[in-house]
Amino acid sequence: MSTHLRSVSVAYGTGGRALDGITMAIGPGEQVAIIGPSGAGKTTLLHTLASALKPGEGAVTVLGSDPWRLSQTELQRLRRRLFLAPQAPPLPPRQRVVNAVLAGRLPEWSTWRALRSLVYPADIRSARTALARFRIEDKLFLRCDRLSGGERQRVGLARLLASPAELFLLDEPVSALDPALAQAALQVLQGEASARGASMVVSLHAVDLALARFPRIVGLREGKVLFDLPRPAVDEALLIELYGSELCNSFQAPPEHQAEALPICRGCV
Ligand code: ADP
Ligand code: MG
Repeated sequence: MSTHLRSVSVAYGTGGRALDGITMAIGPGEQVAIIGPSGAGKTTLLHTLASALKPGEGAVTVLGSDPWRLSQTELQRLRRRLFLAPQAPPLPPRQRVVNAVLAGRLPEWSTWRALRSLVYPADIRSARTALARFRIEDKLFLRCDRLSGGERQRVGLARLLASPAELFLLDEPVSALDPALAQAALQVLQGEASARGASMVVSLHAVDLALARFPRIVGLREGKVLFDLPRPAVDEALLIELYGSELCNSFQAPPEHQAEALPICRGCV
């Protein structure tokens, strides 16, 4: 099912354009990393793909449908087929982790089953399995407000595994994790997307992770696509153009990649 944007622009209120004439297509099963400086429009792009933000101009197709031409019921149905993981997952503080993870199953459940699961969690085993893939199964019955930032982020990702989504939209999904955990978490997410044939669009602050793990890289700057290229074509000059002086702070290769010929800002060498 195709997902694409054609000449899409988004503005917030009377501000400038957060997205400015974006055209891109995400094929079935494709895995794409979005990189770019803060304020480039990465979050806005993901929210637009998630049909959470209506563009002022241009056309959006999500999993084969224009979300803004659907009835409310059809739009709800479409949104159930995708999963937007915000950078800070919305976990109710007093909810137990098991219920927070099983909330990913809500699209499949009847209202009665969902309500009943709040009292008697319906599928504890699948919640534990999802958490185990991010190495936090020991948090199963903890309250969400007892979790660290990195644990909260992984609970949000475990919720994605529990969901039936066929389009993964992840906004800086590993920003609160150390480099080793970040690698491992992305490996799980990419493996899951491949296994179910889901498409995946991921914004990443860590350029090294994007370059190391994704076959296609989109560089976003000031709401525009600066480049949209296969990983091998992304070179140092492009990264410096994308980040300018910010590259020094944003590009840090973890030790296992230092031997590779990854681009490094000339200002640092
Ligand atoms: P990124 O995720 O790349 O940091 P964002 O999509 O969050 O970028 O933001 C793109 C631009 O839109 C920025 O200039 C930001 O200030 C602006 N922006 C984002 N969200 C809002 C909002 N809710 N209201 C007004 N402006 C916003
Ligand atoms: Mg953002």
